[in-house]
Amino acid sequence: MIASSAPNLTTTTIPKEYDGHTSIFLPTMATVVDVQPETKTEKIFTLRLPDGENLNHNPGQFVMLSIPGVGEAPFGVMTSPSRTGETFKLCIRNAGDLTSLIHQLKPGDQVGIRGPFGRGFPHDTFVGKDILVAPGGLALAAPALSLIDEILDHRTDYGRLIILYGARNPSELLLKDRLAEWEKRDDVELQVTVDHPDDEWTGNVGVITTLFEHIQINPYKTIAVTIGPPIMYRFVTMELLGKGLTPDQIWMSFERRMKCGVGKCGHCQVNHRYACQEGPSWTYAEALAFEEAL
Ligand SMILES: Cc1cc2nc3c(=O)[nH]c(=O)nc-3n(C[C@H](O)[C@H](O)[C@H](O)COP(=O)(O)OP(=O)(O)OC[C@H]3O[C@@H](n4cnc5c(N)ncnc54)[C@H](O)[C@@H]3O)c2cc1C
Repeated sequence: MIASSAPNLTTTTIPKEYDGHTSIFLPTMATVVDVQPETKTEKIFTLRLPDGENLNHNPGQFVMLSIPGVGEAPFGVMTSPSRTGETFKLCIRNAGDLTSLIHQLKPGDQVGIRGPFGRGFPHDTFVGKDILVAPGGLALAAPALSLIDEILDHRTDYGRLIILYGARNPSELLLKDRLAEWEKRDDVELQVTVDHPDDEWTGNVGVITTLFEHIQINPYKTIAVTIGPPIMYRFVTMELLGKGLTPDQIWMSFERRMKCGVGKCGHCQVNHRYACQEGPSWTYAEALAFEEAL
């Protein structure tokens, strides 16, 4: 129960970026419109805010999703702004207490949504550049897809689009329909690798950095965006620096434990920075400036 001395959140001044929401701490109830299994451990959820309100996010931003009485956690938005109308999608791995309950949700159920939060990828500043996106595992669906689709929907604004995707094994590859679609396009350069092939796999075998051997990039006009498990960053950045990119041309996403999402609780603090607010997207140059980041 909220104490009577608690501030009236409905009249608290809300930062401009949260206009339209009653409070940055109070979730808006969204309706689950569709649930699609993607792999053994991931499902894709289509959600609709009340009145079909647009989420108004940037690629790389996240929302806090809650089930009342159970918990709340951050999830990157899968849908690009260019494809977000009355609904948006999240790809959620069944990883623990909250996500196992999220996996039981059915169309018509309600969940709490706060956000969008965080600094996404500044795709406007990528215009005119070649873009190399290197996601590992789940990161292809969120948040890489939101950036990829934003670029595809404004294709002539950008140079080459190179996608290097790695997963542990073929059954963990996400978005197989989209991979097949990109494979056929002349304006997308896609390479996929798995660490552990099965009998049917005919593609590249090895960690994601093995794909860098096959590509030539122009270091003067390339922006690289790499998203995945922290261990991946060390090796991918070494490859990118070896190809002549400077640290400020390399973007990454830091998925720290987040609780409030709005820079108050300190759970996601990396040195003196809050990953939920100033991140989760940072350039390698920014990350080098605070020693705990990598
Ligand atoms: C910015 C951001 C974006 C994210 N986007 C997605 C997404 O699009 N899809 C998705 O499936 N997940 C995403 N995650 C991770 C997701 O928030 C966690 O999987 C979720 O909090 C697990 O909640 P749980 O209660 O089910 O698991 P718990 O029962 O709390 O934990 C289960 C296991 O997951 C580990 N874990 C929990 N939270 C994290 C975390 N933040 N980072 C690493 N390990 C963790 C725990 O140590 C434990 O081993 C994102 C995290 C962040 C910070």
